[in-house]
Amino acid sequence: MTVGRFAPSPSGRMHLGNVFTALLAWLSVRSQHGTMLLRIEDLDPERSKQEYIDAIKYDLQWLGLDWDKEMPQQSTREAAYHSCFERLETYPCFCTRNELHDASAPHASDGRTIYAGTCRSLTEAQRAEKNRKPSWRVRVPDRNISFYDGVCGSYTENLAKDCGDFIVRRSDGVYAYQLAVVCDDAFGGVTEVVRGSDLLASTPRQIWLYETLDLPVPKFFHVPLLIAPDGKRLSKREKSLDLEHLRENCTPEEIIGKLAFAAKLIQREEPIQARDLISEFSWAKIENKPIMIS
Ligand code: GLU
Repeated sequence: MTVGRFAPSPSGRMHLGNVFTALLAWLSVRSQHGTMLLRIEDLDPERSKQEYIDAIKYDLQWLGLDWDKEMPQQSTREAAYHSCFERLETYPCFCTRNELHDASAPHASDGRTIYAGTCRSLTEAQRAEKNRKPSWRVRVPDRNISFYDGVCGSYTENLAKDCGDFIVRRSDGVYAYQLAVVCDDAFGGVTEVVRGSDLLASTPRQIWLYETLDLPVPKFFHVPLLIAPDGKRLSKREKSLDLEHLRENCTPEEIIGKLAFAAKLIQREEPIQARDLISEFSWAKIENKPIMIS
């Protein structure tokens, strides 16, 4: 039985790119007669707003992208994250942002910095001398993590060499996305994770966490980026592409039709309801390259 999810962050109104991801996640689940979950990822209390939670639900419904069950919001799940955290081999890291930058190995190809292990072997006495609240990192092995993505194909990363020990709890006490998402998807019994391709490089870390915590690993589908005709990534700051603006100027069928045509799910650009795309949907139709929106 397929279980999929929408996992929006309520830090703004949904954007055309979020709608595209939600559409494919929904089509995948509905075409397999599975269960769709909604989980509001309000992990970061400073960026999350109730008005955006309400708007996301309202916009998904307006688009015809329904869900079967709402999972607890991340802001209520601290105890669950804590119990996962306790099962990991972690250590406190006192590095400041500048220290991390200076000490990091050359940037990974996607612009991430690789943690140099500065605080990995501090003694208790050295830790006691630090006058700062630490973040917490998990010790990663020098091992390749490989998986097969349903859109992007094979992907491999060596956690020690390409990433380094990564943060699972921030210095303000908030559990990191990498840990929360694994804990939550396992809790929801999620079998397939559909999300933007900007999260592809997070996946080896998450797979390793699933394995370390003895949780079943879902399938992954990383959805291509949407680009403008000039080849530039559609910016989240582009107000005309957020739902507040789109709702004033388009019908839901026009928005779904535009995305479905751009993704080659339909042959002509025409208004269409999301449910009319279910019977023809297949991941094989989604190409592994940016999708141009005109
Ligand atoms: N909350 C993330 C977002 O809105 C998605 C995370 C995920 O799907 O794992 O981009």
